[in-house]
Amino acid sequence: MALIIQKYGGTSVGSIERVRSVARRVIDSARGGNKVVAVVSAMAGETNRLIDLGKTVSKNTEGREFDVLLATGEQVTTALLALAIEEAGRKAVSFLGHQVQITTTGSFSRARIESVNADRTLKALEDGYIVVVAGFQGATREGSITTLGRGGSDITAVALGVALKADRVEFYKDVDGIFTADPGVCPDARLLPRVAYEEMLEMSYLGAKVLHPRCVELARRNNIPLVVRSSLNFNPGTVVVPEEELMEYAAVAGIVCDKNQVKVSLTGIPDRPGVLAAIFKAVAEADINIDMIVEDVSSAGGANSVSFTCGSADQAAAERVAKKLSAAYPGGAWGTRSGLVKLSIVGAGMRLHSGVAARMFSALAREGVSVYMVNTSDIKVSCLIESKYAELAVRTLHEVFELARPRGRAKKTARRKR
Ligand code: ASP
Ligand code: MG
Repeated sequence: MALIIQKYGGTSVGSIERVRSVARRVIDSARGGNKVVAVVSAMAGETNRLIDLGKTVSKNTEGREFDVLLATGEQVTTALLALAIEEAGRKAVSFLGHQVQITTTGSFSRARIESVNADRTLKALEDGYIVVVAGFQGATREGSITTLGRGGSDITAVALGVALKADRVEFYKDVDGIFTADPGVCPDARLLPRVAYEEMLEMSYLGAKVLHPRCVELARRNNIPLVVRSSLNFNPGTVVVPEEELMEYAAVAGIVCDKNQVKVSLTGIPDRPGVLAAIFKAVAEADINIDMIVEDVSSAGGANSVSFTCGSADQAAAERVAKKLSAAYPGGAWGTRSGLVKLSIVGAGMRLHSGVAARMFSALAREGVSVYMVNTSDIKVSCLIESKYAELAVRTLHEVFELARPRGRAKKTARRKR
């Protein structure tokens, strides 16, 4: 007997038919005495609809009242699922964020969970109920409703998993699990039966929109196994586990592509302490979400250059800041390049293999793909390239790193090649 958290995303509860099918699935999982808590998102598209609705009466798209509005999307699906489960013959109870006592900070629209009180949920499970919890929401200590930021119901699921000491948290999606690359781009993409937390975390940050990075981090810290699988079939999906459990593996687990990247460059920047600080203070004050930073210190002395990347949504703001900053330095100039993607290879095995970056660069060069910026960590290499090459580059790297083969076997090949 296990305690299982199941999280159903917006498409999985996107229609009444789908809600009924989720109800059957939840009941099925509860057979044999398993305790099941279902965490639900709003119906697909509903949160966006609510935002647009709010915008029709208010210039303010954040704050206390906006969170009251946004939290209603999950209230609807929570109630519908509990009703459908009861209709199918099992006892169910729905809880909103404040009823589970998910206590959060007061930063509306991006609140952080401070604590989850497990008592009421555990009692209901003990009494034989299937518990349905509204994702994405909580309440401050004073009782104001808060939301956790877009995609936040993933975080609700794992936070509940931690509080209830769940055996696992299962994410039901409209995809079969985590793939070596986007199957829509790369026909050879293979489902990964297992990935390490760290790999999943990197992939989430680097643009794989499967799990919220904060929920992966929370699971890793608390050692809760995550499962990513489809709500449309019964395939086992992908299990996210500690790295130690992946005994043998190839250097690269998967390829991720983050679209709509912009590179902003400042040249002719004075070479003295404090300049970088001033530049990035101005960028932060303009609320620009930056990603990579590269500073090039001129070895001949004199002027330096610095480049950073951001999403295209921040391009206009970034250009305004760059213009202002470059004008502040004699000889300063600025430029932007848009239409870029950040292409990343990720794998915990990189710690054991050498020459991974070199193989990536050679493969891109053979295809005539220019690289505009590079960023690495111990388990990833990211390259900024033109978006017109994105699909070609993904397919090329997929082949070069032999990702179509099961992971264990690829290692021997990699060894032989070195
Ligand atoms: N409904 C919210 C959103 O669309 C939360 C979630 O789906 O996780 O962002
Ligand atoms: Mg969602």
